Amino acid sequence: MAKRDYYEVLGVEKNASTQEIKKAYRKLALKFHPDKNPDDKEAEDKFKEAAEAYEVLSNEEKKAKYDRFGHAGMGGGGGFGGGGMNMDDIFSQFGDIFGGGGGGFGGFGGFGGGGRGARRVNRGSNIRVKVKMTLADVVNGVEKKIKVKKYVSCKPCSGSGAEGGSGGFTTCDTCKGAGQVNRITNTFLGQMQTASTCPTCGGDGKIITNKCNSCHGDGIVKDDDTIELKIPAGVEDGMQLSVSGKGNMGARNGVAGDLIVQIEEEEHKELKRDGNNILYDLYIPFPDAILGTEVTVPTVNGKAKIKIEPGTQGGKVLRLRNKGIPEVNGYRTGDQMVNVNVWTPQALSKEEREMIEKLKGSENFAPNPTEQDKGFFERMKDYFK
Ligand SMILES: [Zn+2]
Ligand SMILES: [Zn+2]
Repeated sequence: MAKRDYYEVLGVEKNASTQEIKKAYRKLALKFHPDKNPDDKEAEDKFKEAAEAYEVLSNEEKKAKYDRFGHAGMGGGGGFGGGGMNMDDIFSQFGDIFGGGGGGFGGFGGFGGGGRGARRVNRGSNIRVKVKMTLADVVNGVEKKIKVKKYVSCKPCSGSGAEGGSGGFTTCDTCKGAGQVNRITNTFLGQMQTASTCPTCGGDGKIITNKCNSCHGDGIVKDDDTIELKIPAGVEDGMQLSVSGKGNMGARNGVAGDLIVQIEEEEHKELKRDGNNILYDLYIPFPDAILGTEVTVPTVNGKAKIKIEPGTQGGKVLRLRNKGIPEVNGYRTGDQMVNVNVWTPQALSKEEREMIEKLKGSENFAPNPTEQDKGFFERMKDYFK
């Protein structure tokens, strides 16, 4: 079959400019593109024919030869063997004429994006640690140094994975360095371009030719790391704090994951946490409840003195303002609640028994609570929510 004249194929004059040739080819490539003409042999032939014409006429040297010798000049030195261009050649050519311009290429959304796609970045995994906090740590906030074993960037290869650093790479042939491969699929809406991770290089865009001895090409090694944590006041058991970028390093100059710190509260011997308040159970001797006294109670930070009024009933709750726990993201600080118990003696001497028996008939010892004394539910409503 005789070949048609290349100028005729593209529909341009002999003196057409490079721009005109490009424009003409673009139009034909769109019209006869196999994705637009599935299973259409004639369109495919036209598509190939146009590509071949463009291949010659867009190249100054080949064009000059063609102008002088016609198709005969293309035979040997022209580079087309006998069979013309195959589809792969044609599509790689698209990178030149449709790639750089950005937009403009109607239905195809940008072909041959070699080097433009976002290379995948390896993200390291998160590390989870538990940190024990005393009640004092919770009230005051704390700085802790914790040791973790984690993946860090390999020093000898600067995290590249290649012996001697960045030199030991070649660009991946499959994806031409893009790290992803594009596939065009037909949908009833038109062509869709889908990108997937390059199977050859795993998304790196390059292949290590000489792997680093220390990390075997991963760019990361296990090592001990000491991490300083600033844990704010007010945290709670089970709460998780995330420290960005302190987790495992990602392979081959990736980014590090996070360090997830889980709070574990240790119990205090005498004080109990209740939300932002702290509870303390106080026992006072019977005579002190009657006569009044001053007692010392423990708080998280040292001791506090409390006055016990004469005639204090058991079950009275005294409040030490701001001796509790600060809100983790607020300005309010809780209180310490002191629950007053009056201790009833469980063993008495003979003399004591006689004394108590004398008091037994006294009118003053008969219960006679006021409304205020009876305010148990009112006093305790915070704790029975
Ligand atoms: Zn690749
Ligand atoms: Zn290394």
